[in-house]
Amino acid sequence: KKFLVNDQFMDENEVKLSIYDRGYQFGDGVYEVIRFYNKKYFKLKEHLIRYIESARKIDIDSALDLEQLESMFEELLERNSIDNGYVYTQLTRGTAPRSHIYNKEELKPQLIAYVEEAKRPLELMEKGASAILHEDERWTKCDIKSLNLLGSVLAKTKANKDGAFEAILHRGDIVTEGSVSNVFVYKHNKLYTSPANNLILNGITRLTILEIAKELGIEVEETTISVDFLLSSDEVFTSATVSEITPIIEIKGKSPIGHGKPGEMTKLIQTKYEEKIKQL
Ligand code: PMP
Repeated sequence: KKFLVNDQFMDENEVKLSIYDRGYQFGDGVYEVIRFYNKKYFKLKEHLIRYIESARKIDIDSALDLEQLESMFEELLERNSIDNGYVYTQLTRGTAPRSHIYNKEELKPQLIAYVEEAKRPLELMEKGASAILHEDERWTKCDIKSLNLLGSVLAKTKANKDGAFEAILHRGDIVTEGSVSNVFVYKHNKLYTSPANNLILNGITRLTILEIAKELGIEVEETTISVDFLLSSDEVFTSATVSEITPIIEIKGKSPIGHGKPGEMTKLIQTKYEEKIKQL
């Protein structure tokens, strides 16, 4: 497997990372996950723009610009033999003796990227999954795709222990997003999702679904969703790059959502999403 480290391609055993990398010691960095299907990226530019924007929001100036990143990521795919999967990439602030205070003059941001094989989760998308409700205990800059993932790690692991696929997070009464996904609710012929503010990551899949809704003429409201509203909705689904669109058919310990099976609107949006993949 070939890795990208800054602007160099190398084998895994050639990759040398420091214990003093601020990503390792402070989670001081940002990341992205980008899917490719049949060796073609899905929404590469959108992901890279968000990556650069996340880095900028935490005051990391990468030497790399959008065009350079695009061409290096294309080359990464060419140098690896995987057809379907995703690229994981992270950019840390760099390496320096441990101190909370950073000094940009002394730091060189470190980028790594590698590919991982991943099939489309067809069975999950068809059958749907259950979720738990979990208090959103993360910080209030969730629009940044930060390496600090403790809130998500704890919530997703709790879901897994409870036999559920995802943890749907809420701040008090307000649903924000999933631990690793965005949340959509369909009720009375209208699609709802949380507004893209500081409390959620504006998912690229979320944006693609909004694009699909527009194309289909589905009425959408980007507005705050209460826990009760979600529980009494007709359909719920989550969206994320790797898992795509997952119907949520049950909230553990509560009643099923709608009829307890994937809803018609969810299925229609899944179909349109698949069409966009096939158009690549
Ligand atoms: N919200 C959170 C907290 C996430 O971790 C993710 C996926 N990484 C998403 C939303 C979905 O984002 P995307 O559709 O860009 O993968």
